[in-house]
Amino acid sequence: MQTQDDLILGIYPTNAYIFWDTYRENTNLPQYFTEKEIYEENNISYMWYKGYLFISESTKALYNIKRDIKIGDIQKRNILTFLSGNVNGRSIIHQLTEEGVELGYDTYTVPFGTDTLSAIYALGFATRSALTFGGLKPGMASEILQYNKDRVFAFVLALGEVDDLKYAAAAGAINFGFPVIADTVIPEILPTGVTTYEHVVSMPFDQIDGKDDLEKSERLVQKCIEVRGVKVKVSNVPVPVPYGSAFEGEVVRKADLRVEFGGKYSRAFEYLHMAKLDEVTDGKVEVVGKSFEDVQAQGSMDLGIVVKVAGRQMQQDFEPVLERQIHYFVNGASGIQHVGQRDIAWIRISNGAAEKGFNLEHFGKILHARFHEDFGAIVDKVEVTIYSDPDKVQEWLVKAREAYDFRNTRLADLTDDKVDEFYSCTLCQSFAPNHVCVVSPERLGLCGAYNWLDCKASFSINPTGPNQPIKLGRLVDMDKGYWEGTNDYAKIGSHGVVSEVAMYSIMENPMTACGCFECIVMLIPEANGVMIVSREDTNMTPAGMTFSTLAGIAGGGLQTPGVMGVGKFYLISPKFISAEGGFKRVVWMSKVLKESMADEFEIVARREGDPELLSRIADDTTAGTVDELLAYMEEHNHPALTLDPMF
Ligand code: SF4
Repeated sequence: MQTQDDLILGIYPTNAYIFWDTYRENTNLPQYFTEKEIYEENNISYMWYKGYLFISESTKALYNIKRDIKIGDIQKRNILTFLSGNVNGRSIIHQLTEEGVELGYDTYTVPFGTDTLSAIYALGFATRSALTFGGLKPGMASEILQYNKDRVFAFVLALGEVDDLKYAAAAGAINFGFPVIADTVIPEILPTGVTTYEHVVSMPFDQIDGKDDLEKSERLVQKCIEVRGVKVKVSNVPVPVPYGSAFEGEVVRKADLRVEFGGKYSRAFEYLHMAKLDEVTDGKVEVVGKSFEDVQAQGSMDLGIVVKVAGRQMQQDFEPVLERQIHYFVNGASGIQHVGQRDIAWIRISNGAAEKGFNLEHFGKILHARFHEDFGAIVDKVEVTIYSDPDKVQEWLVKAREAYDFRNTRLADLTDDKVDEFYSCTLCQSFAPNHVCVVSPERLGLCGAYNWLDCKASFSINPTGPNQPIKLGRLVDMDKGYWEGTNDYAKIGSHGVVSEVAMYSIMENPMTACGCFECIVMLIPEANGVMIVSREDTNMTPAGMTFSTLAGIAGGGLQTPGVMGVGKFYLISPKFISAEGGFKRVVWMSKVLKESMADEFEIVARREGDPELLSRIADDTTAGTVDELLAYMEEHNHPALTLDPMF
């Protein structure tokens, strides 16, 4: 049984794209964002949404009488905040802007509009989550409301005077199961079952206990969280800048750059390895080389982050899993941008962070704190060495690259027939209640974030968590990928919605999808093949639908033969729809995908015995309709034209 904490943690970054894409397509754009700005602002691929908060109405508090709702505190709790409304023409949006608070998806604080009715966009956003992830359809009003009550942990914080229109808007939110907490005197509504606990709570600001306005504000936010029954985890990381997941997607632009490591002008790498318990000094952070004080503004320098961990439950297999967390952990610091991993890491420190005293040692402090906090079950000791001395960077870079190569070979050697168990992932059941990913060495989770080793590590860390081993048992059909164990699990994991799952087929019992998929694979019957649409691709496809429309068909935890959501790296697996002929069935793919994974696809093309295969596959620049696609295939002699019919 999942705890409520699991439910919150199960909401994934990529979901936000789906929410946003479907939302944008089906509504008028809210004010404050033009389409262009959405894509610039909506740089949320690295964010983890762990809850929702809809703040409506304006406040005298924040600005006029200098009460501080402490947006930073809300951000630290990883709560997505929507703003709307005004009091006497003054809006919280104006107030925050004037105070210099950065608004947008980057900071989890999204302005929807200065009028009360703009609260509808927040509720529309919640409704979309029920349609996309709960598999519900427009018109299923009571089910959508119930879904939101059970799974979307939102609440309304009503600041300032509440007039009739605001009462009406708040009543709408309550209907979704979202309680309303007001900082003024208004009639309270105690539990009757519409929301989980109280429906309307009045918490007049002047009557809140607290030594100052800041403390009172914190208690107000805490009350909201309690009334909604949300449990949140706040990291305690000893750095001189604010720290929390809200800052994970933060971009440090050139104008605000103090110093960078990696990218075009210097080298940066990160490497985590295990050692014996007596070889690691827990909490030791050493900087070998100079800090960046002498580097000119907007300059660059080499950097190597080497993390040594030890623990009785630690295994070498977990090294890459833990190493990948460095990206998320470092990114949590406000004013720090981290992109990439291994020897293509690129880290930026902003002027603001440097002025507050952030230095190289703090990278180590962050990693020590976070590895203990998040991976305490397998990690007992953490020691970090930061290399900035160019000779030392070079020396350790060589060692790190040897380790990367070793891991690559090991992962490549791991095939489905060499293991006797796959892993389940039910993390997304917090919003797609009947979806389960079955993760094998040759098929990673559809979000791309969990491969077989990750799931194995996750199971070791949390044996009762969302990743459970699935004993394969008797092989039923290797071509399509049926085992007794996977079928049995599919029934249990999907609560009876699915009775069988074919690991390697798109046409027969394909794996379900929650909505987090990196790509959608879809049958094009006329072409006797499939197209692959990448999440980044907003263009029309030959199927006559965009990614966001297709997502509504592929998601929701239902089996739809001919449609499948997948992780990008499954595309290059030898097991990719191998029941239907594999990669040779791909007749069209998004150009952005074709280009970003060109090297990997070239290897696949050679493996399939047709080095020119990639050039035979159409994309959005060469075929926008089925007719254009067929013409392209004829012209380029695509192999799908001569393969057996797909159905
Ligand atoms: Fe969700 Fe599947 Fe990714 Fe797990 S592997 S987080 S269930 S999409």
